[in-house]
Amino acid sequence: MKRTLRTAPLAATAVGLATALTLTACGATDVADSGSAAAIEKDHKNNSALPVQNAQAQSQPNSHQSKAASDAVRKPMRRLWMPLPCGQKWRVNTWDAQHWPALDMVREPQHKTEGSTVRAAASGTVRFAKWDGGAGNVVQIKHSYGYYTTYLHLKKRSVKAGQKVKRTTKIGTVGQTGSNGNTPHLHFEVAKGKGNANHWGEDKGDKYRKVANLYPKTYNDNNGGGPGGGEWRNQVSHSCSAPKPTKWAPFKVVKEVNKRKWAGTKYESSGKLKKGKTVMLGCNHTRKPDGKLYRRLDGGGGADGRGLWVRSSTKYVKQTAGCSR
Ligand SMILES: [Zn+2]
Repeated sequence: MKRTLRTAPLAATAVGLATALTLTACGATDVADSGSAAAIEKDHKNNSALPVQNAQAQSQPNSHQSKAASDAVRKPMRRLWMPLPCGQKWRVNTWDAQHWPALDMVREPQHKTEGSTVRAAASGTVRFAKWDGGAGNVVQIKHSYGYYTTYLHLKKRSVKAGQKVKRTTKIGTVGQTGSNGNTPHLHFEVAKGKGNANHWGEDKGDKYRKVANLYPKTYNDNNGGGPGGGEWRNQVSHSCSAPKPTKWAPFKVVKEVNKRKWAGTKYESSGKLKKGKTVMLGCNHTRKPDGKLYRRLDGGGGADGRGLWVRSSTKYVKQTAGCSR
């Protein structure tokens, strides 16, 4: 396979060294001609929102826990997430028109980068997990809707080709392997194509590369740094797992309360529950994000499709029967 060794262009160096960090642009794939960047962006605008499975399929209030893991793999992914542990902060860089739309990620602070856990950006099947001269340890996952994600320069791979993964499955650790991995970082790419087309490391594979739309942010090229260049500091991974409750109980709403979706680091409003309404709330898996108690609201929804959250203070809701199911 033909490879081009990517070294840090001047523009990228200026951005990357602004705070004396040593992150440099990398890339193991042959990059499509510069004219294609605009085409990808144009195409991305038409496809920027990943398809979301229909509401019927999302909402399965009666199938709790037991099949949860396998379902997570079988269900089509709802969106892509940062492939990094919940709550961690990372610096994301697209560098320039040649490297873009691939992302380089280093942890903040950067010295923690090497050995950090890399997680699947969504559920799918490992298409390959192998050694490559330029990319080092590389993993590619095939997702639904024709999406692929690829992870380069890994220190270690922890999945095998053909393996089913779900979002948050550990697939390896961040390293600097391969001749292009000149400093510890994760080189991450998103691709979209038809059928089983090869999307990485093959001739013209780069034409399938897509702008990374990692919930809740799209890393396009409008963040400075010149054409294709962009740098985003302190990007928090929202790829958090939250178990679905196994027991539920009816609660009566005694004061209007917000339904909230968990955005990984904070709750966001998602409608209201009117006073007098009776709802089913989870008996376990309450959370205390800000010293406040929350419970899962049965019936799907939420960023992870496992139910919205409701403040469970007796000021808002009162349990009217015991836990069941
Ligand atoms: Zn890179």
